[in-house]
Amino acid sequence: MTLHSIAIDGPSGAGKSTLAKALAAQLGFLYVDTGAIYRTVGLYVARQGGDCADPRQVLPRLPEIQIALRHGEDGLQHMFLGEEDVTQAIRANEVSRYASQVSAHPQVRAFLLDMQRDFARRYHVIMDGRDIGTVVLPQADLKIFLTASVEKRAIRRHKELVEKGEAPSLETIREQIAQRDWADTHRETAPLRQAEDAVVVDTSDLTLEESLAALRTLVKERLGL
Ligand code: C5P
Repeated sequence: MTLHSIAIDGPSGAGKSTLAKALAAQLGFLYVDTGAIYRTVGLYVARQGGDCADPRQVLPRLPEIQIALRHGEDGLQHMFLGEEDVTQAIRANEVSRYASQVSAHPQVRAFLLDMQRDFARRYHVIMDGRDIGTVVLPQADLKIFLTASVEKRAIRRHKELVEKGEAPSLETIREQIAQRDWADTHRETAPLRQAEDAVVVDTSDLTLEESLAALRTLVKERLGL
C-alpha cells in the first residue's frame, strides 16, 4: 500500500495544528505535531535546571531523555516523559521559548529526526512543524506553507492563553511571536522556510472553516482524496 504524507510548515499561530488535526480526522490520517516533541525536550531540560540555549547543558542530557509520542484511542497525540503525560505541561507559555532554544541545536534536530520519519514509514500522516517539507519529509505528496500576519497570530495566541487562564498582554505576545519567528527563520540548521514546491496558504483573513476548505481542495487536487 502506498502511504501518503502531507507536510504543513509555517510560523507559530498560523493555525497549523488546529487545521492539521481537523484535516487528519477528515482523511483518516495520523496527525503528528512535531513542535510538541521539541517542547517536551525543552521542558525536560528546563526542569533539570538546564539552560536550553546552551548546547553544553542540553546535549549531554539527550541520551537520558525518555521521550515518547503516543496516540490515544481518540487519535489525539500525547507526549510522555518516562511515564508522565506532559501533553498539558508543554503548552505553558514559557515552554514555547525552551522549545525554540533547544530546536536551534543541530544535534537535537538530528536526535529527533528518525522518530519523526518513522511515523511516515508506518502510517498516512499529516505532520506539522517548521522543517517538515524541507528536511523531515522532502518526498511528501503535498507541502503546505501556512502563514498569517504577526498581528493576527498574536490575537489568536492571546485568546488561547486567556482561555487557559494565562494572560500576558497582547503586546507581550506579539513581541514573543516576532522574536520566535526571527529565531526560527535565522537559525543555521533547518531554519523555517518555505519548501520550493510548497503551496502557500495565508490565513490572515480566513476563518477556520475557510482555511480548512482551502486545504481540503489542495488535498483533493494533489492526492485525489
Ligand atoms: O509548533 P510549536 O510552536 O509547538 O513549536 C515550538 C518550537 O519548536 C518552534 O518555535 C520551533 O522553534 C521548534 N520547532 C522546530 N521544528 C519543528 C517544530 C517545532 O524547530 N519541526
